[in-house]
Amino acid sequence: MGNSTTTRAEMVGLVQAMGPAMKQRAVKYDLEASFPFENFADFAANGLMGVCVPARYGGLGASYADYVRVSEEIGRHCGATGLTFNMHNATMLWCGEVSDLLDMTPEQREQHEITRTEMYRGVVERGDIHSQPFSEGLAAGATAGVATKAVPVDGGWLVTGRKIFASLSGAATFYNVTCQVPGEDIIRLLGVPSNGDGVQIVDDWDPLGMRGTVSRTLLMNDVFVPHSNEWMPAGLYNQAALRYPWLFLSLCPSYLGLTGGVIDATRLYLRGELPGQVAGSRRDHPIKQVGWAQMQLKHQQSRAMMYRAIDEAVLDPTQDELVRGWAAAITVMEHAAEVASLAIKVCGGQSMQKNLPLERLYRDSRLGSTMLPWSAEVCTERLGTAGLFD
Ligand SMILES: Cc1cc2nc3c(=O)[nH]c(=O)nc-3n(C[C@H](O)[C@H](O)[C@H](O)COP(=O)(O)OP(=O)(O)OC[C@H]3O[C@@H](n4cnc5c(N)ncnc54)[C@H](O)[C@@H]3O)c2cc1C
Repeated sequence: MGNSTTTRAEMVGLVQAMGPAMKQRAVKYDLEASFPFENFADFAANGLMGVCVPARYGGLGASYADYVRVSEEIGRHCGATGLTFNMHNATMLWCGEVSDLLDMTPEQREQHEITRTEMYRGVVERGDIHSQPFSEGLAAGATAGVATKAVPVDGGWLVTGRKIFASLSGAATFYNVTCQVPGEDIIRLLGVPSNGDGVQIVDDWDPLGMRGTVSRTLLMNDVFVPHSNEWMPAGLYNQAALRYPWLFLSLCPSYLGLTGGVIDATRLYLRGELPGQVAGSRRDHPIKQVGWAQMQLKHQQSRAMMYRAIDEAVLDPTQDELVRGWAAAITVMEHAAEVASLAIKVCGGQSMQKNLPLERLYRDSRLGSTMLPWSAEVCTERLGTAGLFD
């Protein structure tokens, strides 16, 4: 997107400065399964809510590749904050950097400019928070299994449907949902106002991990959504999913950061310096050094593959390029869980106490591979046939 006057290092530095507070608060969010409101307030205070808003609209102007580093740094301190912040930023990037790459008619581009100017203004000036409840549990694909309907009415649509895992439920200003107008083939991306009539958050939220995401069930019953809340022109979501699927990797940096958090905690533990640990230093045992080496190896592999996939992301990727993306998704998500599991073994039994961070990181890390549409299983299936039949 360009035009950023804030460097990548400065953006990451803003997060690093918040690190100790986020790390401390992560304990409470996990315990209560509550949303990280304080972290989001701090993001707003230091301009990070607009990190992926282009500079000409008042944001920090992060490119996707910059954002990956920012998201990773957040995940290192609080995985749930990283994951929820990603839902916000995915919309910012889709409407910015990605939309600029895609084909639109001149009229669509003109309308899109009006829409995103207002959307970005809401984020930068009013502190709007965007979420992306797309999942319905009906199919794995990004453009499949969308049963949510948008019925055209004067000035907009009436939206009806059910979204599972609506992260930021009760916290977002907009629930940006995928939906279909009856009779159309395309998916539309509409911003459902969270305070709209007919919006309901239901079901309990008491999960294994990533508890601070507050991903409850969103019910929408004839909720009015004005035309101005169609964040991308009709048809552009399908084009983005097909021609620039790289944004489906945007969940990975949170888990890459989480892996880094496991590495941080393990290093301290083995040195006998992790606050709250009862056991002494463990670093002198050669077998623990082997485990520690394995953990670092996996972390570095994840980082290298993630950075390469995003730094080389292009429109209309070839199959070889997609293979890199799928391989990165599997590696980052599976390694997160593997490294967290290794950490418990390497540190030892006393490290699994709930007053120490490894127990939470172990639970949080388990969920990465389940995230659709590029879940570890979906990507493995694609790798399993890549190059064999075409
Ligand atoms: C902490 C957390 C936060 C989340 N936040 C969000 C969010 O903000 N927004 C959002 O949209 N989603 C979110 N998700 C949802 C996530 O992306 C998945 O949609 C969800 O985990 C799927 O759960 P499921 O039990 O339906 O599993 P699945 O078993 O994955 O089933 C989903 C559907 O896809 C089908 N399916 C799965 N794999 C395949 C395959 N390989 N081939 C063919 N069909 C397949 C299944 O049969 C089923 O119909 C979140 C999930 C978690 C754990």
